[in-house]
Amino acid sequence: MKRRKFLKNASLSGIGLAIGNSLTNCAETSASKGVSDPLEEASLPLVIATWDVKNATAKAWDILQNGGTALDAVEQGCRVEEANEKGQSVGKGGLPDRDGNVTLDACIMNQNGDCGSVVFLRNITHAVSVARKVMEDTPHVMLAGTGAEKFAIQKGFKKENLLTEASKKSWETWKIKSEYSPIINIENHDTIGMLAIDKAGNLSGACTTSGLAYKLNGRVGDSPIIGSGLFVDNEIGAAVATGLGEEVVKTVGSFLVVELMRQGKTPQEACEIAIQRIVNKPNSNYKNFQVGYIAINKKGLTGSFSIHQWFSMTKFQKGVNETIQSNYFNKDA
Ligand code: ASP
Repeated sequence: MKRRKFLKNASLSGIGLAIGNSLTNCAETSASKGVSDPLEEASLPLVIATWDVKNATAKAWDILQNGGTALDAVEQGCRVEEANEKGQSVGKGGLPDRDGNVTLDACIMNQNGDCGSVVFLRNITHAVSVARKVMEDTPHVMLAGTGAEKFAIQKGFKKENLLTEASKKSWETWKIKSEYSPIINIENHDTIGMLAIDKAGNLSGACTTSGLAYKLNGRVGDSPIIGSGLFVDNEIGAAVATGLGEEVVKTVGSFLVVELMRQGKTPQEACEIAIQRIVNKPNSNYKNFQVGYIAINKKGLTGSFSIHQWFSMTKFQKGVNETIQSNYFNKDA
């Protein structure tokens, strides 16, 4: 099943878990399938990514196996999905905003804590590579809109139309009703986030998205915001988010996951607590949106968790490239 379909099914299958059950859920989930056993010695290198993106993790793994850096691995891995026109949530073929513009957000962060980001980037497929150029070739962290596009072109990126026929058709169908309800965000998001540790033991991460489908023109989510969509601390670990960006931003989600690991939580525990931080907010409308985190610590242990079912993580380690269903908070669905 496609990523969007997974999320749609999650929304259709009913909801209603009492917030008070969250601790029970948390305890149950720590030993779930795909979660690293804290006692198992982790094997490096290793790459993980949001969703079922085995081609992307395979690309990253090749680089890592050949002694490449985690930074090169996450950039090149994300580029695979950016170029994949069938994926309507990232790069070329991403679903547009309500006015028909495909606008991309991306960021990247290396083992030294350096980072680069682009927001509201148009007409350039490989937003993650533009973000890397911002990090490496400018004194800034973030470039937006036409400035980011001009910068990319100066750096030799090709200008192209990102609205494919398939995405245009989806947008035209959406326009008939033009129902704009960004909170009910079960089926219209799928950021690709990737985290890697190379043979030298260094961590890096990247994140790339076309954001919410049919969003308001100018809307930017969590994905290019360092600390929200992505955070890497080479002494501790790294985390990346997908889902309704507004909710991730409100809890500075990826930074929170890394800080929880700093306090001694495993990556799995850290992802679960960060999800609880969202669902336990007094006015949380969590039944109507999805958020998922994946995380890795310095030892190479990993974790993933989401609010609703059907979130997955792809992991390439010890020569095995596998997609693992994440455990989730809302067991009543
Ligand atoms: N987090 C992204 C955003 O809010 C959406 C996604 O995960 O696909 O822009």
